[in-house]
Amino acid sequence: MTTIIDIHEVSKSFGGVVANEEVSMSVEKGGITGLIGPNGSGKTTLFNSIVGYHPIDHGSIRFEGEEISTLPVQKIARRGLLRTFQQTRIYGAMNCVENMLISMPHRKMSFFDAFSRNGEEDYDRADALLDFVGLYEKRFLRSGSLSFGQQKLLEFAMALMNEPTALLLDEPTAGINPTLINGLIDRLKRANTDFGITLFIIEHNMRVIMNMADKIYCLAHGRLLAEGTPEQIQNDQKVVDAYLGAH
Ligand code: ADP
Ligand code: MG
Repeated sequence: MTTIIDIHEVSKSFGGVVANEEVSMSVEKGGITGLIGPNGSGKTTLFNSIVGYHPIDHGSIRFEGEEISTLPVQKIARRGLLRTFQQTRIYGAMNCVENMLISMPHRKMSFFDAFSRNGEEDYDRADALLDFVGLYEKRFLRSGSLSFGQQKLLEFAMALMNEPTALLLDEPTAGINPTLINGLIDRLKRANTDFGITLFIIEHNMRVIMNMADKIYCLAHGRLLAEGTPEQIQNDQKVVDAYLGAH
């Protein structure tokens, strides 16, 4: 196995709040890695650091062997490392296809000339990916009219438009009803197996992450508490006390 994202002793504070302290993790290429931990344990902060959303205070983050912790978001995205958000970021007034077409940062398109510059193959890919997530029938509907879960699926499809090497997902199933969750898990797994995309997933739903990940890291109070297979994590008393016990 090769490490694709190597996080080494990363620390990040906001004023007096230590969000991450000396966190080290490695994400294996082609795998599905999970990140769990109670609210406020620093999961989202770590994702923000990885994708270049803010500078880190200490440590190193390597992607495919190269230091990226000093690079801006766009440069990291162009290297194939993307993330989705805890809150969806779609344009509600635009339809699904339009959202797909403006979701490619490497194109450097402005909001308004997005459509004129898109080629036939972009439309084809948008259609194929909307079909992949089960939104093909709804592709010309205003995306704001979709259910929350469908918007999450759209956001996932938008990320796939960029053909990421690795995709970071921040609580992809939060707020989604159980029926749609199963569909989303299935699509995430297929993105991993069929498209070969490395996934790094923050997930609150234990059933979901235990079912998907080959390796899980657990944060508590900004520090790494435990790491291991789903079985090891489930049986780790520190995790049970700090995390599972709190739910
Ligand atoms: P999680 O995603 O695990 O719930 P976060 O990474 O969002 O945790 O937050 C970790 C800690 O850092 C929390 O105490 C939070 O209030 C703080 N924090 C996160 N982002 C900011 C920010 N931009 N400014 C100030 N404090 C922040
Ligand atoms: Mg969070």
